[in-house]
Amino acid sequence: PTAELQALDAAHHMHPFTAGAELAKKGARVITQGKGVWLTDSEGNRIVDGMAGLWCVNVGYGRHELGEVAKRQMDELCYYNTFFQTTHVPAIALATKIAELAPGDLNHVFYAGSGSEANDTNIRLVRRYWDVKGQPERHIIISRKNGYHGSTMGGGSLGGMTPMHQQGGLPIPGIVHINQPYWWGEGGDMTEDEFGLARAKELEDKILELGPEKVAAFIGEPIQGAGGVIVPPATYWPEIQRICQKYGILLIADEVITGFGRTGNWFGSQTFGIRPHIMTIAKGLSSGYAPIGGSIVCDEIAETVGGAGDFNHGYTYSGHPVASAVALENLRIIEEEGIIDHVRNVAHPYLAERWKALEDHPMVGEAKLVGLMGSIALTPDKARRAKFASEAGTVGLRTRERCFANNLVMRHVGDRMIIAPPLVIKPEEIDVLIERARKSLDESYAGLKA
Ligand code: PLP
Repeated sequence: PTAELQALDAAHHMHPFTAGAELAKKGARVITQGKGVWLTDSEGNRIVDGMAGLWCVNVGYGRHELGEVAKRQMDELCYYNTFFQTTHVPAIALATKIAELAPGDLNHVFYAGSGSEANDTNIRLVRRYWDVKGQPERHIIISRKNGYHGSTMGGGSLGGMTPMHQQGGLPIPGIVHINQPYWWGEGGDMTEDEFGLARAKELEDKILELGPEKVAAFIGEPIQGAGGVIVPPATYWPEIQRICQKYGILLIADEVITGFGRTGNWFGSQTFGIRPHIMTIAKGLSSGYAPIGGSIVCDEIAETVGGAGDFNHGYTYSGHPVASAVALENLRIIEEEGIIDHVRNVAHPYLAERWKALEDHPMVGEAKLVGLMGSIALTPDKARRAKFASEAGTVGLRTRERCFANNLVMRHVGDRMIIAPPLVIKPEEIDVLIERARKSLDESYAGLKA
């Protein structure tokens, strides 16, 4: 029975990013099954998953092929490591496939178990790179406020989430943050293009303030996901790219969300014309069917670090055979079923038109969408792009709760509502998503006026 499960859950299971006391009071929703974009809970409700789990179930729930591959691999070779000059077929095959898909000379994969671990790898990798290059003072990494790069000490430090920094003594030394390119919320009187340039210029200012000889790398998500699906102005990334190149700073694109089709290309870097030295990957790499992540590394860094003796870093599960085999099968499905073309076709214009139309709602300020990654800003005053003062954050929370009550998973970040459904979503399912979102917005708005 649901109540019994909830009581045991509250008693014994510590949830990420969740207040334990709240959980004990309300009980967590128990999800029991998934198929395509649909979830079922322990009460038999059918829920549209507008978030693909945590932005990861790209091929949708319930793909039996992935389970079959996992079973075959477990029977064949359940585990072996990739330390100390050993390897195995799934790790080789997956790295080869990733290198084929990744743009430019991103030809080398360092495996991790998650996006956070991969970003921890990146910190050590870029610092090691500069050490080998004879520039050991070059260790600072510049990141952005409100970026998200994971929950480990390294990932949480790279991230610029104030609530995370407030707990556990983050960030660790050697990581500094500049402002995010969030025009709607912070752009003032500037045009989007002007603002994009101004925010990119902050990188140059920070590099000059620190001294270019001290800066190892800049890291950013092509589109900030957990920060609220902040789509940068068109001027932003080209200018960031130019500045990194000018000062010889390594560029890390965190593609944990934007990778593997989410933005209508294999990688978000392709959508925005970014040419990174390293990409962080996880989530959609296996569509969440197995925990796996990694860093895709360019020739120069891989050869420099690899040519200089042991890189003293790695995880027991780096290149785990079962996770690697599942990821490879997942990439086969994305490729052979034309899922990235599907994203392009279904996102534009079908979802884009319906998403944009939400701007006619009295509480919706802007509606942004790139591929199948979207956000709306909730506002008490569209013309002024105002934020809720007295109810800051609670309007988004209430809207999310209304969505959940209406059997739609939509996430809130403060007063921004976000979606990232499985990439296989069909037009008729988009209709259900939009209808439930609209109903939830109406109910939340009614609560606002009361
Ligand atoms: N980087 C980005 C951009 C993410 O969105 C996330 C997770 O949401 C991570 C890193 C961390 O990945 P994981 O939760 O697999 O550690």
